[in-house]
Formats: sequence, C-alpha cells, structure tokens
Amino acid sequence: MASEGETALDNLYHIAEKYKGKFSLAVEGAIPMGADGKYCIVGERNGHEITMVDIMKDLGEKAGSVLAIGTCAAYGGIPAAEGGETGAIGVMEFFKAHGIKTATVNIPGCPPHPDWIVGSIAHLLTKGVPELDDDGRPTVFFGENIHDNCPRLDQYDAGELSEKLSDAKGCRMDLGCKGPETYADCYKRKWNSQMNWCVDNSVCIGCVEPGFPDASSPFYEPA
Ligand code: SF4
Ligand code: SF4
Repeated sequence: MASEGETALDNLYHIAEKYKGKFSLAVEGAIPMGADGKYCIVGERNGHEITMVDIMKDLGEKAGSVLAIGTCAAYGGIPAAEGGETGAIGVMEFFKAHGIKTATVNIPGCPPHPDWIVGSIAHLLTKGVPELDDDGRPTVFFGENIHDNCPRLDQYDAGELSEKLSDAKGCRMDLGCKGPETYADCYKRKWNSQMNWCVDNSVCIGCVEPGFPDASSPFYEPA
C-alpha cells in the first residue's frame, strides 16, 4: 500500500473488519512469544505498540484463511531452534494456543519455492483451501517423498555413494542427505528457473519439514 506507519495499520485493520471472513492473511516469519511479544513490534496505533502477537490475534481470527509462508511462519523454523531466545512459534501452534480456528495453509521451505506460494494463492482464489497433509501443507506440492523420486535413487540402490560434495555422481546419503525424511517436489520442480536443486551440488537438508533445522542437524552428517 502507498501509506506507511499508523495510516497503513489503520487501513489494514479497517480492511480486515470490512472483509471479515473473506480475506486471506499472508504471514511471514515466526511469531515471537517471549518478552510479551516485544521481539517483533509491527507498528504503533493510538499511542500503543502493536506486536506480531497482537496482530495475529486480531487479524488471524478475522481472516477467512491464512497462508503461513516459509518454514518460520509454518513451524517456527530457525528462530525456534535450540538456543533461541524469542519463544518463536509457527501460526498453527499460535492458533491452537489461542483457540483460533482459521484454516491455515502452510507453505514451508527455507526459502519456500515461488511456485509453491503462487500456486497456493491461485488455488485459494479459484478453488479455496487446497488438500493439506497432516502438517498443513498442500499435497500437490508436498505430497511426494524426495528420496523415493530422486534422480540418484538408482545410484543409491547400486551402493554408489558420493564421498565429497564435488562428486558429480553418486547418492548423497553419506554426506548427510535428508531426502528420505523429506516431502516436497524439488526433485522435479527444481530451483533457479529449473536450473538445479540442492542434491545436484550439496544435500537436501529437509528445509520443509516441521522439525527443521534441529531435526536435520548436523546437515552434513548421515541421519
Ligand atoms: S541423494 Fe538423497 S534423496 Fe537422492 S537417493 Fe541419495 S539419499 Fe535419496
Ligand atoms: S531439496 Fe530439500 S533442502 Fe532443498 S529446497 Fe527441497 S526440501 Fe529444502
């Protein structure tokens, strides 16, 4: 929007009231619950600070649906990892804790693929909330296991394992690949305009999974 500061917030709240139950709220980043929410202050309104916790309570309840974009918004992600100080959590956990029943579409990824975001928005606009898996992700993008569909599965089956990341061939299992525990279509969608994907040059670190990053750390050691 063209405005900024309090004018922008006023507009946001006005629109949310006017289109109650009809708009989709796009959320980026985890919600920091610590220190009364003061780790993330969105702005000021009527002389009071509005934290992300405040805005998620107000607008989350009014929204018809929520898009939690990125692993942090979906599951807490890196800010929620061991050692984090902010008490960060994802949207679904926040809603559960506050009794908010708004439908939530998780689009995890660190970062999420642009196709996953645009495709989910298009689905919401044309057909409503897409079919979701148990972790709230659209099955159309997150329904397939990476390992089961990996172009290097034949090499895994043949016991041909890469010894170093610069090896052009070989399965990355011994280098820490988390493909077997990860569900996403990166193996066929690829990244950078279909140029390559993580396994081509490194390993899958399971960035779309609810436990990321703690559950897939250390990244470069076998699970
Ligand atoms: S590179 Fe990873 S995803 Fe591909 S076959 Fe090996 S372990 Fe599975
Ligand atoms: S291949 Fe694995 S680490 Fe890479 S983007 Fe996909 S899910 Fe994330």
